[in-house]
Amino acid sequence: MAESDTIDSKPLAKVLNEHGVRPTSQRETVYESLLQKRDHPTADEVFARVREKAPTISLATVYNCLDVLVQNKLVRAVNFERAPTQYCANLAPHAHFHDEAGRTLDIEMPTGVIDQLRDLLPSDFDVKHIEVNFHGRAPHND
Ligand SMILES: [Zn+2]
Repeated sequence: MAESDTIDSKPLAKVLNEHGVRPTSQRETVYESLLQKRDHPTADEVFARVREKAPTISLATVYNCLDVLVQNKLVRAVNFERAPTQYCANLAPHAHFHDEAGRTLDIEMPTGVIDQLRDLLPSDFDVKHIEVNFHGRAPHND
């Protein structure tokens, strides 16, 4: 069973605990903002969003919370060329599509595809992490 299937229905504190993160209201607020709007925000964008709920939070604290979430694998840090790091709370295996317009979209990656990528390498290569990035133009629906 994938944890990502149920993560939205659990209390945030429990989810944080299960990933070895000591829940604090600031960590919960930052994590919640990433779960609510999954558009791969930068730290500055997360900061702007959480300030509405937590007006006293500082940018340094937001960075700190994001670091803890990334280190404990609740959130992925997405780096693309020289753009600022973006944050992604989608734990399912997926690739990223970087749109020329600046959006980053999640592209679902079935396990079979990941296995095929792994098979490209000699068997004595130890893969820790596979990252697939597309870039180009995606249709705009808005
Ligand atoms: Zn993503």
